[in-house]
Amino acid sequence: MRAAIYPGSFDPVTYGHLDIIRRASSIFDELTVSVLNNNTKTPLFSVEERVRMLEEATKDLPNVTVDSFSGLLIDYADRKGIHVAIRGLRAITDFEYELQIAQTNRKFSDGNLDTVFLTTSLEYAYLSSSTVKEIASFNGDISKCVPDFVAGLIYEKYGFSR
Ligand code: ADP
Repeated sequence: MRAAIYPGSFDPVTYGHLDIIRRASSIFDELTVSVLNNNTKTPLFSVEERVRMLEEATKDLPNVTVDSFSGLLIDYADRKGIHVAIRGLRAITDFEYELQIAQTNRKFSDGNLDTVFLTTSLEYAYLSSSTVKEIASFNGDISKCVPDFVAGLIYEKYGFSR
């Protein structure tokens, strides 16, 4: 069985992430989307909130499960017995950073963790969680960026009722 992990911050999940999730779930038999608990970032949503949002947004995809992890991806993947990580690539700027991480993960896992990159669908190439948060913090329209229920939760965080 072919299984993969799609790790990320997902703070919050956007249509860009969901596009990658949908496509990866049709390539792999099982996809685990996993929220990284990263202490060096100050997130808008807690890990639990991000997990719940991802669960709701992926509920129509039967081979997708949502989880969270702390620490190194290679250790987490090893515990789960999974050998493929999925990452999305938007632009050349993503590439340099992602290439370094992919090579590090491969090296430090002794070849046990490879990374498969999916390139963004063009309509989501501009989309990032930080852009969505910035627009929402000024009460701007984020309906083209995230599902409606996610938009509602973001506006709530910034004190707007829409
Ligand atoms: P990070 O894991 O770097 O903190 P994110 O949680 O925002 O960042 O993203 C997780 C993964 O999804 C990364 O591989 C990122 O490149 C990818 N990604 C984010 N937004 C998009 C998008 N609009 N299209 C394709 N891939 C994306």
